Amino acid sequence: MRCPFCGNIDTQVKDSRPAEDHVSIRRRRFCPACGGRFTTYERVQLRDLVVVKTNGRREDFDRDKLERSIRISMQKRPVDPERIDQMISGIVRRLESMGETDIPSKTIGEIVMEALARIDTVAYVRFASVYKNFQAADDFDKFVSELRPDTPPEE
Ligand SMILES: [Zn+2]
Repeated sequence: MRCPFCGNIDTQVKDSRPAEDHVSIRRRRFCPACGGRFTTYERVQLRDLVVVKTNGRREDFDRDKLERSIRISMQKRPVDPERIDQMISGIVRRLESMGETDIPSKTIGEIVMEALARIDTVAYVRFASVYKNFQAADDFDKFVSELRPDTPPEE
């Protein structure tokens, strides 16, 4: 990291620790050339997250796809849409704060199931049953198309 005071590129990290939000790392740096001190924050960028499929293929994480699969499994369930948004943001935050940019698709599925289980059992069962077949196919679009409630619940 280049020193912002003198331009020296050989600066030292004095100490690293999680920032208060726990999704970034705060590093205190020292420049031995000019004695300058500065702080940097390092965080995972959402666009940098890569999903590693079980067959080893990689693709950029797509929040919309995740959201689509969750919304389909929540269809016609009596859950406040705002709560679903919060859940999705929470899942994304968890992924971002894992400290790794490469995330196995399996891990994402497990986190989603865990979150769904806490909110709505029916949605959880829908998601989980399709997810199990999906692991073999590992094709997200197919997954989303299969993830449909069989019959709309009686009103
Ligand atoms: Zn310097």
